[in-house]
Amino acid sequence: MTSNSSILTDSHNRVHTYLRISLIERCNLRCTYCMPQQGIKLSPRSHLMTYEEIFEIASLFVKHGVTKIRLTGGEPFIRKDIDVILHKLSTLGVELSVTTNALLIDRFIPLLKECGITNINVSLDSLDSDRFSHITRRNEFEKVYKNIFLLVKEGFNVKVNSVLIKGFNEDEIIDFIELTKQSPIVVRFIEFMPFDGNKWDLSKIVSYAAIMESVREEFSAKTIEKLKDSPNDTAKNYKIKGYRGSFAVISSVTNPFCDTCNRLRLTANGQLKNCLFSAKESDILTSLRNGDSIEPIIQKAVQKKFKIRGGMNNIDMLKEPQRHSQNRSMITIGG
Ligand code: SAM
Repeated sequence: MTSNSSILTDSHNRVHTYLRISLIERCNLRCTYCMPQQGIKLSPRSHLMTYEEIFEIASLFVKHGVTKIRLTGGEPFIRKDIDVILHKLSTLGVELSVTTNALLIDRFIPLLKECGITNINVSLDSLDSDRFSHITRRNEFEKVYKNIFLLVKEGFNVKVNSVLIKGFNEDEIIDFIELTKQSPIVVRFIEFMPFDGNKWDLSKIVSYAAIMESVREEFSAKTIEKLKDSPNDTAKNYKIKGYRGSFAVISSVTNPFCDTCNRLRLTANGQLKNCLFSAKESDILTSLRNGDSIEPIIQKAVQKKFKIRGGMNNIDMLKEPQRHSQNRSMITIGG
């Protein structure tokens, strides 16, 4: 296959240029909506991609047109060879970025700079220390909060991702937006999504419409500015006039952005997922280890991608529990 081949173009003519790679299944937090209470069955170490395999697979995707790679997990910074992985991937000439809970990020700032990484997404679901401990089952709010502002100070483009869950943190929408007053950060509110064991229920979602209603109650229409969303953007972007940063809503559930989806996901144990909502996976690691070409597997997986939400064409289909009990927990997919 040549670099002009279209193995990354699906049957709905979507071109996949963005690969998200999960580096590890383990995490140093235990977010209740991400990891089931009883924990998860971890893949044996030998089933996880080595850094050489990550590099080989990523290089192949780049050859076929991927221009952006995001590293996620689990928590990417607890992987022991994160430095080697970042150095290797930084040679591919793509936009390289990471999603992290920021707990350890202060130790990695020189490494991130060496590897030309400028965009960091940090997950933070509450600005209240007790609530943070409740949702993450760890008492680490101060460290995370401090590290977010350290990243900003060090010149990184920081997006703070906050999953909103009704009855838990929807009363913090305005507090999060206020963070953007003095800091050039982007706060992104994410609709709660269903995965195995995360006790999802449609009634727990704080929808795009509800989020914007809260914003309109607080700020006058004249001060809420709709920003232009970039192509393939999952977020609807806004800012409050005069504020340094901005905010956005990722409405994966109530208002999905499947038409412009350009994303593929590779799990830490080498399974390709063509959609976050889909339980279907394609094993590329076993074939790679057997010395077989993985391009036909990738092509088939891309071709099979559903037009909308992994085949859940309407929101009622999302309510069928068996649909997401077959899907992995988010911690082993990599959000
Ligand atoms: N450990 C890293 C972190 O905390 O950002 C990376 C992995 S974490 C699985 C990636 C993202 O997935 C986080 O922003 C998290 O909030 C999001 N996430 C996990 N479960 C989710 C769910 N049920 N609905 C929406 N987003 C979810």
